[in-house]
Amino acid sequence: MLDAWSGKKSNESKKDKNLPLASREADEQTIVRVKDVAIGGSEAVVMAGPCSVESREQVVSTALAVKDAGAVILRGGAYKPRTSPYDFQGLGIEGLQLLREAGDIAGMPVVTEVMSEEDVEIVCDHADMLQIGARNMQNFALLKKIGKTDKPILLKRGASATVKEWLSSAEYIMHAGNTNIVLCERGIKTFDHSLRNTLDLAAIALVKEMTHLPVIADPSHATGKRSLISATSKAAIAVGADGIIVEVHPQPEIAKSDSAQQLTFAGFAELMENIQSPLRKISVSQELAIRV
Ligand code: PEP
Ligand code: MN
Repeated sequence: MLDAWSGKKSNESKKDKNLPLASREADEQTIVRVKDVAIGGSEAVVMAGPCSVESREQVVSTALAVKDAGAVILRGGAYKPRTSPYDFQGLGIEGLQLLREAGDIAGMPVVTEVMSEEDVEIVCDHADMLQIGARNMQNFALLKKIGKTDKPILLKRGASATVKEWLSSAEYIMHAGNTNIVLCERGIKTFDHSLRNTLDLAAIALVKEMTHLPVIADPSHATGKRSLISATSKAAIAVGADGIIVEVHPQPEIAKSDSAQQLTFAGFAELMENIQSPLRKISVSQELAIRV
């Protein structure tokens, strides 16, 4: 067996001494439970909802629409990490309350970002799963604090973080006592600016080899482009992702954040149909291969 980081051959277990909790021993797989939803099992899970919670009407209608189409966890940001201080910062506590209400109405657990140590308690009071956003992946004080809670964690990869740094952040949370972690690949910064980020599909496959933790993909932030969500979602599931998290808004064109990447309700229903369909068959006939 090759050690994923050193490239050296080893006959020992896959356990990495720097990641005693997060790395794999053999073929074990952690299943993370968010209320009655199991992540890491045989079925890929879909989390969906608006980038930001903006109003009761917006989040409740989105919750009902995504639930109807097959999503099992509702997402929505109340504390928003925005590049500019002049951009919409989220509704804060009111956003948490509205997200909770929408989740309860639709009958779905909810996931939302916690940005600072001082908000951990209030977010725990309202959410079923805590999201650590890309910008906070190496906020070690925050990681230690959420590691002391009993809520499942959605740990996003930092935009410039290596796989080793990402898994070390998971190790921080586990070391503090919380082993219910789902990793999320949400695109990294590369030389190519054609898209918002570059979806690192190979990292999903690699991390699945290295750790027993479930891994999902966020095609919305990875691409920044609504027309690519379906193709990249399928690709992520094909390389082994345990699910996806997707942004959906009743009217994406007037969304207060991430307008270009949010799907309409119809777009989300179409995505759900697309990701069920099988991958294209490989032609084994030379004659056919020449014709196509
Ligand atoms: C989000 O999920 O809305 C978000 C801000 O994601 P990220 O931290 O991946 O940028
Ligand atoms: Mn967003």
